[in-house]
Amino acid sequence: MAARLDVQFIELTLRHVWGISRGTVTAKRIAVARVEWEGLVGWGEASPTSRYREDADTAAAALARLRPALEGDPRAFRAVTDRLDALVEGEFGAKAALDMAIHDLAGKALGVPVYRLFGLDPAAMPLTSFSIGIDEPARVAEKVREAEGHPILKVKLGSKDDRALFEAVRGVTDKPVRVDANEGWPDPAEALRQIEWLAARGVEFVEQPLPAADLDGARWLRARSPLPVVADEAVLRSVDLPRLADAYHGINIKLMKCGGLQEAMRMIAVARAHGLKIMLGCMIESGLGIAAAAHLAPLVDWVDLDGNLLLASDPFPGHPVEGGRIRLRDAPGLGVAPAPGVLAS
Ligand code: MG
Repeated sequence: MAARLDVQFIELTLRHVWGISRGTVTAKRIAVARVEWEGLVGWGEASPTSRYREDADTAAAALARLRPALEGDPRAFRAVTDRLDALVEGEFGAKAALDMAIHDLAGKALGVPVYRLFGLDPAAMPLTSFSIGIDEPARVAEKVREAEGHPILKVKLGSKDDRALFEAVRGVTDKPVRVDANEGWPDPAEALRQIEWLAARGVEFVEQPLPAADLDGARWLRARSPLPVVADEAVLRSVDLPRLADAYHGINIKLMKCGGLQEAMRMIAVARAHGLKIMLGCMIESGLGIAAAAHLAPLVDWVDLDGNLLLASDPFPGHPVEGGRIRLRDAPGLGVAPAPGVLAS
């Protein structure tokens, strides 16, 4: 019997106004997929972003068209995930939701956590960074103080005055910091000056300094940068990797960009074959999307899975973060369930 699919929306509310180089938001709408098979329920989240011309409504419409993929026994989940691209073009948030739900269901049907399906040890995952959005320097300093329990920070730059913002961070802490410019430094020579300045201030690497489309600029920068440069907006799926391999030192994989755990696994293999470092990141997401990515996290070099920690409350709680590391519970599937009252029954 084919699994049954239902979709609902949830509004995520951020704890602080969330600022990056492209603008600010206070809330985000997600689509949640509920897949039921033989009395078991698998959960998946689509938390798409406008940068990739998707939102919760386009994701929900895509999920309706992806429904025919849910044939057969979910324990053979590769048959389901392999059908998605033929049914709908793009819409990677929706595909991620269905991919996640079918992994959750398979884990529950087999009685094992998803990391066990992949043969991974969750204790081996790297620490996650905690993101500090763009804001006035005094507010940035306050957010850095609030993030005291997180051993690694990721600071968003590409603001009006990046140096004042970064000085505000360093005025409070000397812990390891990563920087994400979100395409905010369009001139390669200016990007290099910023990276050199940051390299002298204890920064570990820089994410997407240049616009995604500027591959020549990225090659120029990679040859000169004193810090590793990581592609985020420039990379969606495994097919993008060969042409990026000489333009960046590493890539940021996100389920919402690539369409789920199966494609993320392919990206990890292709990135390793090209000698690229691997970061596993997220959008503003609930604990559901974060949990799905965390089950793969033992395979990567850098983890940035904090989307749910930036929320006023998490509609899919489950896995605590202890000392900066996500501690995946030994529970079947993805190990999270909706908090009471967040979904209509
Ligand atoms: Mg990024």
